[in-house]
Amino acid sequence: MPNCKLACVGAGFSNAVIARHLAELGHEVVVFEERSHVAGNCHTERDSETGVMVHSYGPHIFHTDDEEVWDYVQRWGTFKPYVNRVKATTQGAVYSLPINLHTINQFFGTTLSPAEARRFLAAKADDSIGEPQSFEEQALRFVGRELYEAFFKGYTLKQWGRSPTELPASILKRLPVRFNYDDNYFSHRFQGIPEEGYTILVERILTHPNIEVRLESRFDPGMASTFDHIFYSGPIDSFFENRFGRLGYRTLDFHRETHDGDYQGCAVMNYGDEAVDYTRITEHKHFAPWESHEKTTVYREVSREHQPGDVPYYPVRLLKEQNALAEYVKLARGSRGVSFVGRLGTYRYLDMDVTIREALDAARQAAHHLAEGTPIPAFFVEPLK
Ligand SMILES: Cc1cc2nc3c(=O)[nH]c(=O)nc-3n(C[C@H](O)[C@H](O)[C@H](O)COP(=O)(O)OP(=O)(O)OC[C@H]3O[C@@H](n4cnc5c(N)ncnc54)[C@H](O)[C@@H]3O)c2cc1C
Repeated sequence: MPNCKLACVGAGFSNAVIARHLAELGHEVVVFEERSHVAGNCHTERDSETGVMVHSYGPHIFHTDDEEVWDYVQRWGTFKPYVNRVKATTQGAVYSLPINLHTINQFFGTTLSPAEARRFLAAKADDSIGEPQSFEEQALRFVGRELYEAFFKGYTLKQWGRSPTELPASILKRLPVRFNYDDNYFSHRFQGIPEEGYTILVERILTHPNIEVRLESRFDPGMASTFDHIFYSGPIDSFFENRFGRLGYRTLDFHRETHDGDYQGCAVMNYGDEAVDYTRITEHKHFAPWESHEKTTVYREVSREHQPGDVPYYPVRLLKEQNALAEYVKLARGSRGVSFVGRLGTYRYLDMDVTIREALDAARQAAHHLAEGTPIPAFFVEPLK
């Protein structure tokens, strides 16, 4: 089918990549975005008071091992090297995250070598737990009670609004400890932050004669009939008018403050104590150490249950949501003319690099179907996994 008329709902990375690929092949694409800006949750803008580039929907660090994705993002802007080094305040002291040899030695007041630290933690691990069922049991088995209570218990409770005894063990998949002094939060080969922020990068991806971007324009499923196909990166439940109930999300409130100078000396400080109601404080200017600002903007981040009208951030994906998701997926597979993409369309947490990888693959598959005149699938990945 040459020159199709396509709709992309949402102007985050998912649909920016899909729209661009299909526009370059000659298709006409209309991008609907209900917000006043592109880039979805990766949006960055300058704080009007301090001039600092802020990550409006929470801190975003680009990290990947995927060379094609890394090359792709470089096409649209310069990435400055950035290593994410997170700190944690808990039980009256500041530690380095992820838990590493420095954290262990500082926390226990020891001078252990890597091998000694392994033995030390192995002795603390609760091996009376056979097959861990909950997040708490998993953490106790990996690191023992002291580290669990300092670094996981309060933080997890605040982040998910549920006791770690009710969360599945699968959340903590691997031993969350390093037995060396490596405090680089991510272990990917490529890591950086776009020099001019993410939004301009996405604007560039979307700048093409075959792409029309409509901001502050909410797509209503009733508009579907005017397009040959729709790529929907909004919430899958809202596309079907929540007929099997709303899928649960955690939302975040960001309490903005401005200060003089340097507020906390690092970009991200986590707070492990349950008594402190926020999970972390982000000081945005540390994401752009190549800039200099006299004042500073910080966001105090509080997590809570999502209500209608809130921004959906983290999908909950417990049993109840998984059952409802299965119903929506069945409905989507029975529908024609719409594909569900991205973090909200497939109800999964996705890092930016995975989002872009999936969008590149989706765009290629969709292009093939459009060329052959065969139906484009409802999903390009399995959302129920
Ligand atoms: C707090 C937080 C921190 C994160 N930090 C990192 C990080 O450090 N590194 C990393 O790699 N990833 C990070 N991510 C993940 C990153 O945000 C996602 O990978 C990315 O946003 C996914 O892009 P998307 O296009 O799928 O969705 P989104 O960015 O959510 O875009 C979807 C867009 O669709 C629009 N929309 C929805 N419904 C409609 C409708 N009916 N009509 C019109 N528009 C609609 C929305 O307004 C939104 O702009 C983080 C995520 C969160 C929640």
